[in-house]
Amino acid sequence: MPQLSRRAFAGALPLGLIGGSLLGGGLLGDSAARAATQEAAKAPVAMNPFAQIRIGRFTVTALTDGYADMPYDYFPGRSAPEVERAASAQFTARPSGVRFLFNQYLVEDGERRILIDAGAAGSIGQTGQLPQALAALGLKSDKIDAVIVTHMHQDHMGGLVLGGKNNYPEAELYIDRRDIAHWTDPAKRSGAPEYLQTSFRMAEEVVRLYPRLQAIDGEREIMRGVSIVDLTGHTPGHIGVRVEDGGKSMIMVSDMIFPVVHPAATDVFFLFEQDRAAAKAMRDRFFPRAASEGALIAATHMPFPGLGRVVADHGEMRWQVADWALQD
Ligand SMILES: [Zn+2]
Repeated sequence: MPQLSRRAFAGALPLGLIGGSLLGGGLLGDSAARAATQEAAKAPVAMNPFAQIRIGRFTVTALTDGYADMPYDYFPGRSAPEVERAASAQFTARPSGVRFLFNQYLVEDGERRILIDAGAAGSIGQTGQLPQALAALGLKSDKIDAVIVTHMHQDHMGGLVLGGKNNYPEAELYIDRRDIAHWTDPAKRSGAPEYLQTSFRMAEEVVRLYPRLQAIDGEREIMRGVSIVDLTGHTPGHIGVRVEDGGKSMIMVSDMIFPVVHPAATDVFFLFEQDRAAAKAMRDRFFPRAASEGALIAATHMPFPGLGRVVADHGEMRWQVADWALQD
């Protein structure tokens, strides 16, 4: 399954973590893969795997698929020691890197259930908890009417195709056309680094297993109050989702914001970003706008439930955690 390059990870890992708790099978041999799976089964399960807010008639539920600790040298634009110092100051430092969460969002209005992103599903770190989180709500994946995938990186679509199956058989699937084109292009695939190969493979599976895939062109409404926002940069077809009703709104921005480095600096990137100029341009546009609007933001990799705001504080952008339990 997995595959952030084992080598890339291993280089930055304490010995005890290699081949076990961080990665699943795949690059490992069969017995190592079994051991890794057993190890993953022992991974801590979130005590309370969801958090809910209301946006007008919608209930938005943040669900966690788990976490991974990203090596400090995965942030081009800053040295590893700089990232580690910043992570320590923000209490997100772990022995093997910056703690990244994997948050998904379920949007319900009593008639339809729309899931935003499907999680890494064990392909990175300690992930694969989304099914349990849905079960805690009394839901199975066949009760999901639509899945919006914000971009075709493995940590956002892995759950769609785990086990080589269509895991959301009743769902319409929405993905930006530019991402579908990019991640199914054999030329792009052969020129891409090893750590992106899993995403290319999964993208091919998604297209094959989901005949109800709808390619999205530009900003549009998926249902009344749920619309696509163009946030191209992190990937060519990276999108956000705005949920809006009754004078309230929330925007799920996916990988616009990474822990520790954003929104303070836009000249710091994540390893998976291939077009850094595009990623920087979008963050330069988006962060000031989000700050001036005071937009409620949901972000995939920020500490669970990933809800907060970008605020301008004495000329510096910073992340302000939002209250989710008692928002009104
Ligand atoms: Zn991501």
